[in-house]
This record gives sequence, C-alpha cells and structure tokens, in this order.
Amino acid sequence: MAATLVTRFAPSPTGRLHLGHAHSALLAWRLARAAGGRFLLRIEDIDPVRCRPDFVDGILEDLAWLGLDWDGPVRRQSEHLPEYRAALHRLDGMGLLYPCFCTRADIAREIAAIGHAPHGPDGALYPGTCRRLSPRERAGRVAAGQPYALRLDMAAALARAPWPLSCLEQGQRRRCDPAQFGDVVLARKDIPASYHLCVTHDDALQGVTLVTRAEDLAPATDLHRLLQALLGWKAPRYCHHALLLGADGKRLSKRDNAPTLQGLREQGLAPEKVREMASAGGE
Ligand code: GLU
Repeated sequence: MAATLVTRFAPSPTGRLHLGHAHSALLAWRLARAAGGRFLLRIEDIDPVRCRPDFVDGILEDLAWLGLDWDGPVRRQSEHLPEYRAALHRLDGMGLLYPCFCTRADIAREIAAIGHAPHGPDGALYPGTCRRLSPRERAGRVAAGQPYALRLDMAAALARAPWPLSCLEQGQRRRCDPAQFGDVVLARKDIPASYHLCVTHDDALQGVTLVTRAEDLAPATDLHRLLQALLGWKAPRYCHHALLLGADGKRLSKRDNAPTLQGLREQGLAPEKVREMASAGGE
C-alpha cells in the first residue's frame, strides 16, 4: 500500500496572508485531500521580533474563511525550542558547528578587506573569521558572555554527508549543492534556532512526505537535504511552485503591500472568488 501523502502549509506570522500564500496553501491542501492524505498547518514563529500573535489569529481566520481545514493540532515552532536545541546538540557532537561572535558590521568589514565575497541564496557568504579562532579563544569569549550564533562548518559537513546529495523535485531527481550557502547560521544570536534548522526538523518530525512551497525557496532545499543526511531524517519529495504575480507582473509580497485576504474579504469578495484568483497561474 502506498504511504499516506502528508503536505503542509508553514507560514511565518509576520503579516496578513496574501493571494500568494493562499495559492501555496490551496495547492498543499488540494493535493492532500485528493489523495486521502493529511494536510498540516505549522506556524513558523521563532522570531519574536517579527512574528505577532494577532497575525497567527489572522492566518487561522483567513484559512477557515477560504474553506481550508487542517489535520491535527497546529504546531507553533516557538513552543518547541528545546527540540531544535537538541538537533543542534547532535550536530555539535559531530564537530560540525562553531560559535560565531561577529556582528553584521564585523562581517562587512572583513568582506571589504578581502575585496569580494561570493553570494549565496541568503546573501554574502560568511568569510569564516570565527571558524579560525583557537579553542582557547572561543572558550574565553563564551565565558566572557559574548553573544554568539552557531554556524555550520560547511566543509566539514560536506565531508561527512553521503555524496552526491539530491532531491526529488516534481518527480525529477536533481543534484543538490548545499555549499552555495557557505557556513550558514543554524542558531541565531537572539534565537537558539534558524529557519533552515526548524523547517527541516519539523518536516521530518511531522512525517511530511511532500513539501510544497514557492520557488524562491527552492535553493534552500539543497541545504535542507544536507541537514537531513547529517541527522538521519527522511527526505520528503518537493514541489516548488511558481510565484503568483500581481497585475503589474511583480511577485506578490508583504513588503510591497500585496492585497491581503482580509482586505479582499472586506471588499466583499466571496471565498470562492478568492480561491479562484489564488488558483490561477503559478502551479
Ligand atoms: N515559513 C516560511 C515562509 O513563510 C515558509 C517555509 C516553507 O514552506 O518551507 O516563508
């Protein structure tokens, strides 16, 4: 018997949902429902500065208004920080993490001194300053209470992971290149976690078998496959869908004030109409 299909929608409550979110949520929901599978809702709220409880309420309200139902309880990442810490602990035990004390300004200065920095999907690659600290200096700075992030030692991680790494994207096997992220931050200075760590942890924990999300997150999958390989987590299949574009041809985003579902509802649009708008294009 084929395994049950498990999909999920995993918004960050940093604003109200717009049509692009509705597109993603509907895709995951329809796939699960068509296959008699499960559709999960996860709130990715590890950032206490950018995330707000009223936006969480807004997400639940908007999805219910659209007619989407989800299976099981809603998982809120902010309630599970010890689990992410435990995953970090395992990576640390493999010798794959190091503390990074650099501020943004330190990194910019170092990059300026080198003269160039390769760029990855999350911006300029970290020049490796703190990787080169002696164990003694590291311990001294930690003992002095200097705040630090935890970075993945990418070269060491790649040496440990089975090679080559690949993912299954819409039925096609694709080679993954996690090195493009460099020594990525897996625990921020202010939060003992990061998007990449939490999303990979939760997809594995919740038994997600198909990750559906917008194509701007496709490169992140390369890094997620590396974390899965290191931590022995099963790889889901992936479906990165095209971004839904506004009437001006630009991608919809919170930053550019894309019309929210709340706004469309207040204009008097029926949920069926909004589902139709959200379903057009992008798949
Ligand atoms: N929380 C992420 C976001 O809202 C999406 C995570 C994912 O689908 O992998 O952009």
